[in-house]
Amino acid sequence: MANDCIFCRIIAGEIPSAGVWEDDCCYAFRDIAPQAKTHVVLVPRQHVRDIAEAGEALDDRLLAHMIRTAGKIARQEKLDGGFRVITNCGPDACQSVPHWHIHILGGEKLSEKMA
Ligand code: AMP
Repeated sequence: MANDCIFCRIIAGEIPSAGVWEDDCCYAFRDIAPQAKTHVVLVPRQHVRDIAEAGEALDDRLLAHMIRTAGKIARQEKLDGGFRVITNCGPDACQSVPHWHIHILGGEKLSEKMA
């Protein structure tokens, strides 16, 4: 755990969150400033800065587990019309929390533009 990381503190329960999924490897919660009707943030419990570091540092099984879990959360949230997953990496992508996370967005028709 990185003490100065807001998502590590959410995972530890030090900062309240509206959890939607938890298992041994990851945790997911509702985004505090949702950008779609449904907006969930999925994070690995292990602190890695971004997807680039995740690709270097995380076990292949955990990387695959994150993708599978994103799909499970979409089903659980009944995003039957489709959904979008986004992971911002670094300043050009406006990543604001340096703990890798996958945004899961849906529940309504999303913008045709991705950026
Ligand atoms: P990003 O800008 O891609 O790094 O995404 C970080 C996301 O975390 C943003 O969508 C924020 O709204 C969200 N966020 C920040 N703090 C919290 C919090 N305490 N609880 C839930 N979501 C948060």
